[in-house]
This record gives sequence, structure tokens and C-alpha cells, in this order.
Amino acid sequence: MSTKPLNVNEDEIAKFEQVASQWWDLTGDFKPLHQINPLRVQFISQHIALGVNDVHSSNGFYDKQVIDVGCGGGILSESLAKLGSKVTGIDMGSEPLNIAKLHALETGLSINYEKITAEEKAVKNPASFDIVTCMEMLEHVPDPASVIQACSTLVKPGGLIFFSTLNKSIKAYLLAIVAAEKLLKIVPDGTHDHDKFIRPSQLISWAEEYDLKCIDASGIHYNPMTGNHKLTDSLDVNYILCCRKL
Ligand code: SAH
Repeated sequence: MSTKPLNVNEDEIAKFEQVASQWWDLTGDFKPLHQINPLRVQFISQHIALGVNDVHSSNGFYDKQVIDVGCGGGILSESLAKLGSKVTGIDMGSEPLNIAKLHALETGLSINYEKITAEEKAVKNPASFDIVTCMEMLEHVPDPASVIQACSTLVKPGGLIFFSTLNKSIKAYLLAIVAAEKLLKIVPDGTHDHDKFIRPSQLISWAEEYDLKCIDASGIHYNPMTGNHKLTDSLDVNYILCCRKL
């Protein structure tokens, strides 16, 4: 048995457990995630559609094995399942997973939700997924590089991994922490720690270390004052990367 400690910060998990009941409240603490979700799906779709050569689907998601790492209440997992993928969602929060399971039942979607770390899942199911998504999760773990390595192990050769997180910039500090948490209180105070934000260059260098090639990047602009949101060229606050496994 390995004695390596789990790559989990229990305080971070507790924060999400506390507010999990609000996960599908479009006006609650997860409103920003609901608002940016269509943009994430749009970015992912652009890359999946490039590889479409299958008679069952025009969108490229049909029958694809997808794993959503740090899935929370399942906002992205459900979107990808609706597009026809076979989705597994993993998270270390019990409450978010309970909410995710209940919501999938209500929606009539079949999604496999599991409480397991990315690292443990990678040992059990290496090279098993066509698509890996890991959204807004890396900034909540003690060792993000270890999650990136696990995602690389989970994906099949040639498969795609999508990471999104917050850039370690002053602008991200001002918008995601000062404006969204302290002033406007759109998300709970303490949700984010600027020290845990990750520069795109750092994320890309970790990805390259684990046999991933970054093939595209986009900013996800979200204005907490107005709720305006769009994909943008600027990676200075929230951003999403697409990587291919070599
Ligand atoms: N990816 C989802 C939820 C983001 S919130 C979305 O973008 O819609 C961050 C999620 O990461 C929470 O559900 C939290 O429980 C989970 N999380 C934090 N640390 C984790 C870890 N070490 N392993 C798995 N999940 C983790």
C-alpha cells in the first residue's frame, strides 16, 4: 500500500461541501460557473468537431469516453452527456457529488459519478478516456502538477485534455477576489487564494512535462459587475487550454 498522502486540501473540499445545495441555483454562489459554462462547451466543441469522422454524430461527442475531474455538482458533466458522450465525473466532495447524482436523475442523464482523486483514478483506468476536462479545480489542490500528470495518464494517446483556471495576475486578484468576493459578494469570501492561481506558462510547462502538447488557449472573460461573459484572446484572468496527449 502506498503511503503517499492524497493530493487533497480538506479545507477546500469543506468550502464546496458547505455551499453544494446551491449548485444548480442559477442565481446562487455558482452563478458565474453557470454563466461561463456555455463558453467552455463552445471551446471544447471547437476542438472535438475538428476530429469528427463518425456517422453517428455531427458534433463529435457521440459515444466518446469523457472524464470530468473535479466535476462538483456536474454543470459541465451534464452538458457533455447531453451532447452524447459517456461521462464519468470525479470529485472529492461528497455533497457536490450527491447533488450531481440527484440532478442527473432529475434530468434523466446517465452519468457515472465517483468519489476518487484524479491520481487514484489514473492508477485504476489509465489511457481510458477520449476527453479529459478539469475546470476550475487546479487552483484548489495542494499539488496541481500531480493532477495534470494524472489527467495525462487518464487520456488515451492522441486524446484531448482541457484545463481551465485563474491566471496569477493582479487583474485576476482584483476581479476574482476583490470584486467578486469582497465587494459584490457574488461568490463566497475565501473561495479563491491568489497564491494558488496559475500562470498559463506554468500550466503549459507542467503539461509538456507529462507528454501533453498545448494546442490552443483562450481567455474566458467574465465581468462580475455586469455578468458579461465571452471567449477572448486575453488570458489575463480566467483561461482555458486544450492539450493533446502525444
Ligand atoms: N469543475 C466544476 C466545479 C469547479 S469547483 C465546474 O467548473 O463546473 C471545484 C471543485 O473541485 C469542487 O467540486 C471541489 O470539491 C473539487 N475539488 C477540490 N479539490 C479536489 C481534489 N483534490 N480532488 C477532486 N476534486 C477536488
